[in-house]
Amino acid sequence: MSSDLTFKSIAELAVLLEAKKLSSVELTQATIARTKAVEARVKAFNSFDETDALAQAAASDARRTAGQARGPLEGIPVGLKDVISVAGQPLTASSKMLVNFVSPYDATVTRKLKHAGAVLWGRLNLDEFAMGSSTENSAFHTTRNPWDLTRVPGGSSGGSAAALAAGEASMTLGSDTGGSIRQPAALCGVVGFKPSYGLISRYGLIAFASSLDQIGPFTRTVEDAAITLSVIAGHDPLDSTSFKTELPDYRAELGRRNGPWRLGIPKEYFGEGLDPEVAAAVQAAVEHYKKLGCEIKEVSLPHTKYCLDTYYIIATAEASSNLARYDGIRYGHRSKDAKDAIDIYFKSRAEGFGAEVKRRIILGTYVLSSGYYDAYYLRAQKVRTLIRQDFLNAYKEVDALLTPTTPTPAFKIGEKADPLAMYLCDVYTIGVNLAGLPGLSLPCGFSKSGLPIGLQVIGQPFKEAELLSIARAYEQAHDWHLRHPNLL
Ligand code: GLN
Repeated sequence: MSSDLTFKSIAELAVLLEAKKLSSVELTQATIARTKAVEARVKAFNSFDETDALAQAAASDARRTAGQARGPLEGIPVGLKDVISVAGQPLTASSKMLVNFVSPYDATVTRKLKHAGAVLWGRLNLDEFAMGSSTENSAFHTTRNPWDLTRVPGGSSGGSAAALAAGEASMTLGSDTGGSIRQPAALCGVVGFKPSYGLISRYGLIAFASSLDQIGPFTRTVEDAAITLSVIAGHDPLDSTSFKTELPDYRAELGRRNGPWRLGIPKEYFGEGLDPEVAAAVQAAVEHYKKLGCEIKEVSLPHTKYCLDTYYIIATAEASSNLARYDGIRYGHRSKDAKDAIDIYFKSRAEGFGAEVKRRIILGTYVLSSGYYDAYYLRAQKVRTLIRQDFLNAYKEVDALLTPTTPTPAFKIGEKADPLAMYLCDVYTIGVNLAGLPGLSLPCGFSKSGLPIGLQVIGQPFKEAELLSIARAYEQAHDWHLRHPNLL
């Protein structure tokens, strides 16, 4: 019963909680029990606080008894990537730099989740400062893929994806700068949703690359993604990039939009490097949409070949600036054997940051340095505009795009030792961030060896309701999302 419970969707759990067939304390206890049973193998968490979670659950049950339940997330245990602040809880970004850091305040998404009655359960592992595609860059430990413990869960939000897939939470949040929600969602067989840039406040999110970062949910179903989006989206004066826009009731909209849609297949996303099993699964999904009466059209996004280069200039430039604050004085680890102020900076940063973070800071500082700024950073900004324009041109003819989320299913731990090989994991997800678009990955099959495969649906700016409906039209006719890894 208990592991059945921890694999139910938010929508299903909300019905049980509402009918008082289940209490939040029972559900939270089941989640804790499941976590204890599998976590030694999955290693999705950096930390959790059982007593605190059970106290939140008891408070939720008391609200319900008093007739003050706050909606579908009331009493639901959720996990947060360890870059999202929760007042009084540790916040590490999986870096030695922040090992003893405790959040002084709540992120806006945290505040909204608390307001909605969710039970905040645990801090989830990631690649250090969200830089990576496998969680192998975590300074603490590598999270394992629940479908095959010798493989990576993807990254950087690998802990968030693995915890959900393993039944250790009913919803988790991650952040996506170049694919960090969608890629691990694909590799772990769950739904991962990165909304439009500006739809969700990043106040209280540890910044990586501020013009690309976006928070979003990992869920069991598209409906749960819609439910969560309605809770966490919306304008926030504390994040100057957050956008003022009407927010539909995303869940209600799901039932109102039935297509048929015009769907574009970008030819650049089906070339060299795409695993044949992934290609076949995505092709089968396209056929399904055809059967639903959708018009399928090949489109071209001609600047796709520049996406990775552009991203690794812009993201590293912004990271080098954002990470300057970890100097051992204002924030973070301070070296014990520094002699003077300058020495504190050098030694603290040398000891506190891992190799990938250092590589990015060096790269980012270089592309911003005088003499190279025009050749790299400025040019990358111009190419970024062209990349966005490619998408907007495609949207003159189609409502959304269908692509693979990743070139391959989950790879082996240790397999991609070369940083460039790792960077290539995000070829299909990065363009979406550069263009500020919403993108969602949902399960669309399994490889012969039993590894999940993800379909990416890319939508138009701020047309999340449309995108979610398109994704749900596929999900409703398939049962990939109902399969769970056998970890016991
Ligand atoms: N894997 C990409 C990187 O290493 C994307 C990371 C992310 O989205 N946070 O930068």
